[in-house]
Amino acid sequence: MASAHRRYEYDYATGTIRLKNRTCPRCGRIMAYHKEPVARWYCGYCHYTEFLREGGRSGRREARSR
Ligand SMILES: [Zn+2]
Repeated sequence: MASAHRRYEYDYATGTIRLKNRTCPRCGRIMAYHKEPVARWYCGYCHYTEFLREGGRSGRREARSR
């Protein structure tokens, strides 16, 4: 089967998944998706982190920088 719907790149080195359509709201760069231990988006440039909430559609999100 051909993987025609490849939307992301899996980085085997860091164990992260990079989706190409997600950019950092702070610096506009591509964010990395981390599934473990908590699903979250992470910007490796400015360290912006956006946590995902399972089973929630309220759109609530937390962000913090370090
Ligand atoms: Zn950023």
